[in-house]
Amino acid sequence: MDLSLTAEQQQFRDLAREWVDREVVPHATEWDRAEQVDTKIVGKLADLGFLGLGIDEELGGSGGDFLTYCLMMEELGRGDTSVRGIVSVSLGLVAKSIQAYGTASQRQRWLPAMCAGELLGCFGLTEPGTGSDAGSLITKAVRDGDDWVISGEKIFITNGTWAGVALIFARTGGPGPKGITAFLVPTDSPGLRRKEIKGKLGLRGQATAELGLDEVRVGDDHRLGAEGTGFKIAMAALDKGRIAVAAGSVGLARGCLEAGVAYAKERTQFGKPIAGYQLVQEMIADIAVEADAARLLVWRAADLVDRGLPYRTEASMAKLFATESAVKAANQAIQIFGGYGYVDEFPVGKAMRDARVTTLYEGTSQIQKLLIGRALTGISAF
Ligand code: FAD
Repeated sequence: MDLSLTAEQQQFRDLAREWVDREVVPHATEWDRAEQVDTKIVGKLADLGFLGLGIDEELGGSGGDFLTYCLMMEELGRGDTSVRGIVSVSLGLVAKSIQAYGTASQRQRWLPAMCAGELLGCFGLTEPGTGSDAGSLITKAVRDGDDWVISGEKIFITNGTWAGVALIFARTGGPGPKGITAFLVPTDSPGLRRKEIKGKLGLRGQATAELGLDEVRVGDDHRLGAEGTGFKIAMAALDKGRIAVAAGSVGLARGCLEAGVAYAKERTQFGKPIAGYQLVQEMIADIAVEADAARLLVWRAADLVDRGLPYRTEASMAKLFATESAVKAANQAIQIFGGYGYVDEFPVGKAMRDARVTTLYEGTSQIQKLLIGRALTGISAF
């Protein structure tokens, strides 16, 4: 594995870093307080090509490999996990699934608009009764002539109230993962209800929603991939999505490190900066080492993706380690800030609340351990 970045990757990372410092970092606290990101951010992300990274240029995308995508995720995650999530769901889970499994006309219909930020995508897998056990979902799609009629409930759907297209996973066959099919459902379809979930611990800038589908009718040309392949499509999206969540978590930990070091050098107690005390340096060193180790796991997984090699287990390892370390990093950063870390004048409390979700979504830490354990032993412990 070559650990150096190409000139193009470095340029892109620097562009993302500078843009995040200018457009995201100064506003993240106010968005968190208001429980609403300024939606103009979507147009700005599109102008820089961030919503089309990895999508073919002839479809309005900006090309780029998977490692470059991860570099962007790290920088966005350093600024605000809510903004990172808008991109990782719309582009990473939905647009990239359309590129991988869509017909030519589906790609043409959705991708240019998604890359241009004219519409966002949301990913509708989780249901009130099925979270980790997503293969048991009960939303149903029934064939009616050339159409499908979809009914069911989805919960915790990122971008849910903003999205123009929902990638909905529904049961079209018997029980188990093999009976699931994916559909691209326009969110203005009659019968589709959306309700934002308020009062989240973190990710307050992000529109997380419940979706209800009451006999929503779509044509067969809205089916993504063959009948019965929906679960495979969902899992393939999540395998790469986990690497993106891991990259964002590295960014979050780095944000905590930068804030913690700056504060420790300024804050004086017992006559000298607290950065000069060994116990404070221990916390700084712990955050730095884990963030670097997590980044190496992310880059290894991304490198496997870019070389077309299997990466599922490495993606789970990166997600497990990076997200758990981000929670620890935010917790230690609060400790460095003392009482000031407990109020939102400083960013580390928000980082803690935002980090906490990363060990839950796209497969909890327990689910990542079961995936890694199954790969190593050949025995499923689910
Ligand atoms: P459960 O599956 O009920 O798990 C509860 C606990 O039991 C966890 O600790 C879990 O690890 C443990 N557990 C479950 N099964 C096992 C087992 N076999 N062995 C050991 N432990 C086990 N979903 C989407 O489809 N699209 C989205 O865009 C999306 N965005 C989200 C945004 C937010 C803010 C949140 C909070 C969630 C989002 N999710 C989304 C849903 C998320 O993926 C699920 O919450 C997650 O998969 C866990 O499912 P659950 O909440 O039902 O928990």
